[in-house]
Amino acid sequence: MSRVFLSLGSNLGDRLSNIQQAVSSLGMSEHIKIIKTSSFYETQPWGNKDQEWFINAAVALDTDLTCEALLELCQNIEIQLGRIRRENEKWAQRAIDIDILMYDDKLISKGSELIVPHPLMHLRAFVLVPMLEVKSDLVHPVFNKTISELYDELADPEDVFLYGTVLPR
Ligand code: AMP
Repeated sequence: MSRVFLSLGSNLGDRLSNIQQAVSSLGMSEHIKIIKTSSFYETQPWGNKDQEWFINAAVALDTDLTCEALLELCQNIEIQLGRIRRENEKWAQRAIDIDILMYDDKLISKGSELIVPHPLMHLRAFVLVPMLEVKSDLVHPVFNKTISELYDELADPEDVFLYGTVLPR
């Protein structure tokens, strides 16, 4: 069994339901046991800022799948939930995006198809804030720092609000 951490995000359609459906689809796999799901967070778009705010969450799970097989399962769930991939559209709107943040403390690099730990996780408040709730003392195997330390080191974190709280105008 491997302990895996995922980041989920949606900024298209019924964002809350997209995330909930993705988590429940993951949990329906006989190869996956969900250990912990974070609260939902409403987050400012990162990269391409000219789009709707996202809802993000993080999930800890145990699996007997290889990291490659887990990525395939996540991509099938993305397709089922209606994510349309468009060429040359980086950081585009999406019904659901599932990223593998960490797979045990393994370092995996298979071209651009699969890089673990996720190469941008340490730069993104929308990943680190939900992860603080799931496992703040998890150690990133490349930087040898905890999630809390990585979050404290963010120079210019984008806005992240607990979903359901009132957003400032
Ligand atoms: P995105 O559009 O940000 O969801 O990127 C999807 C692409 O990133 C897919 O082609 C994946 O094969 C690739 N990828 C590389 N590493 C990862 C990872 N750790 N988790 C999810 N997708 C990954």
